[in-house]
Amino acid sequence: ETFAGMNLSRPIMKGLTTLGFIKPTPIQCRAIPLGMAGKDLCGAAVTGSGKTAAFLIPILERLLYRPKNSAVIRVLILVPTRELGVQVHSVAERLAQYTDITATLCVGGLSNKAQEAELRRRPDMVIATPGRLIDHVLNTHSFSLSDIEILIMDEADRMLEAGFTDELNQIVQMCPKSRQTMLFSATMTDNVDELIRLSLNKPIRLFV
Ligand code: AMP
Repeated sequence: ETFAGMNLSRPIMKGLTTLGFIKPTPIQCRAIPLGMAGKDLCGAAVTGSGKTAAFLIPILERLLYRPKNSAVIRVLILVPTRELGVQVHSVAERLAQYTDITATLCVGGLSNKAQEAELRRRPDMVIATPGRLIDHVLNTHSFSLSDIEILIMDEADRMLEAGFTDELNQIVQMCPKSRQTMLFSATMTDNVDELIRLSLNKPIRLFV
């Protein structure tokens, strides 16, 4: 399989070239076509598998091909830690560098005021840790989740282990039911299964 055979747009193909991604990894081969078809997905995927681009590419293609007139936040990517957030944000910026798609990082350790100002500018995508996100939605009211079209939960097992179960359930409840959801986890525990049951709609399970 090749990226060229996946019907990707020119700016995303150019982004892949600058990242040096020549050939899709196994999880990218499975997840990209299904993600672009709008399916809910969950997968056992560890860091190193290429899962980040596996969910970012379908997101970027949707943002490009279904533009919106008004500025709203359309994609939410939840991550367990600031470090993973920084990594996902960096891949997103590089993959989207030939588009006008915008992404904002919303994690602990950054100035709350600066993040609030960025959120009020309505980026297309927000990459956030659950605690910091809830804080902005409920306390600073800098944005709402009512226009979210795609929700990603990355390293779901680590988010649950970090004690974010209530925050995750709250966030899922605030997103529209019609959204597309993708969940990735290194391990598939009972708690992860419960989260999948509560937040995904007829998910396709990927084991690569
Ligand atoms: P991830 O599992 O998303 O954290 O990615 C692990 C590493 O693999 C990162 O350094 C990526 O830049 C790299 N990577 C992801 N997809 C590809 C690909 N298709 N070809 C080459 N490297 C890749």
